Amino acid sequence: MRDPGAAGVLTIDLAALAQNWRLLAQRAAPAECGAVVKANAYGIGIEAAAPALYRAGCRTFFVAHVSEGKRVRAALGDDAIIYVLNGLETTADAREDYLAPALRPVIGSKSEAARWLQLVANQASPLPYAIHIDTGMNRLGFANLTEASGAFGSLAADTGAALAMSHFVSSEEPLNPLNDAQIARFEAARALFPGIQASLANSSAQFLAQRPNYDLVRPGYALYGGNPTPGQPNPMQATVTLEIPIQQTRWIEAGETVGYNAQWTAQRRTRLATLLVGYADGLPRTAGATRDYPGADVVIAGRRCALVGRMSMDLCVADITDIPEDDARPGAFAQVLGDQIGIDELGARCGTIGYHILTSLGSRYARVYRGG
Ligand SMILES: *Cc1c(COP(=O)(O)O)cnc(C)c1O
Repeated sequence: MRDPGAAGVLTIDLAALAQNWRLLAQRAAPAECGAVVKANAYGIGIEAAAPALYRAGCRTFFVAHVSEGKRVRAALGDDAIIYVLNGLETTADAREDYLAPALRPVIGSKSEAARWLQLVANQASPLPYAIHIDTGMNRLGFANLTEASGAFGSLAADTGAALAMSHFVSSEEPLNPLNDAQIARFEAARALFPGIQASLANSSAQFLAQRPNYDLVRPGYALYGGNPTPGQPNPMQATVTLEIPIQQTRWIEAGETVGYNAQWTAQRRTRLATLLVGYADGLPRTAGATRDYPGADVVIAGRRCALVGRMSMDLCVADITDIPEDDARPGAFAQVLGDQIGIDELGARCGTIGYHILTSLGSRYARVYRGG
């Protein structure tokens, strides 16, 4: 499996992915548990993730773009239900891009509704789609319920509507009053569309006391090991491990600096290790300690050490002064992500979120899939 030309190794644990789905499915029951596999399954790879989720029991998948929907269809065959969250994309050919691969658009505007209903009018039977109700994101979906019900005629279910959905603004904040306000708006919307499935919950919403699971939940982040309950222990298993080899080590004297623009100054005689990973591999440019950012840690031979100086495009540098010399020589590996450093920690240390860390995972690593 190992790509001999790649330095870093990204290991993806498909058994952990399947286990995470099963845990969320148990929590959601009797509601159905779907899976959000947009953005290349949050960076880990649609072609590996979708079949692993299907084998675990998942049958309903959500993607952002129509191109991702086609990849899921190719990976899973006819049995899976695939919703395109972006809706009926303005640049897509509805017949070729939605009808042929049997993708269900999540329709969120009058113009999309008109386009879709016109397209399917002369089909033998109505083709399923979803209705997106905006309850506070102000991003996609019908904000006006009268407009939403008007767009689909008197009984939407008769035109193929299969799902009414909306999306939380802050479900990772259990005490945020917006959660209750959105639930109330969604209840009102749902009443207008009898006889179809309802879906509101992303990963974190499945852990809210209100349990807004309805008929179908749509977890993404938690499937991939992200913590749906920030500040509390993470109930999910990590799916990604990223290990990067040391290329060189050196000693520098107190007062010397590391990297571009001399952003980090050694306070003592310091041993450094240069790692073969940089921002071109998707690590945030803020991963190294500078005057403005505290920076992230990596783990070498079981011990944490700090990334120091501004991250380069292809390289970064760790302070390995406190690691025994024999444990941190060229060829030894530094763990950037794994059992000791999760995506949530790395995101927080770099001033971003774990979602961003995952979806930025670069293309220069050897990708090793386990547990499939
Ligand atoms: C991305 C997304 C989800 C999944 O959210 P997570 O926080 O990753 O679980 C669910 N629904 C919609 C509409 C989304 O855009």
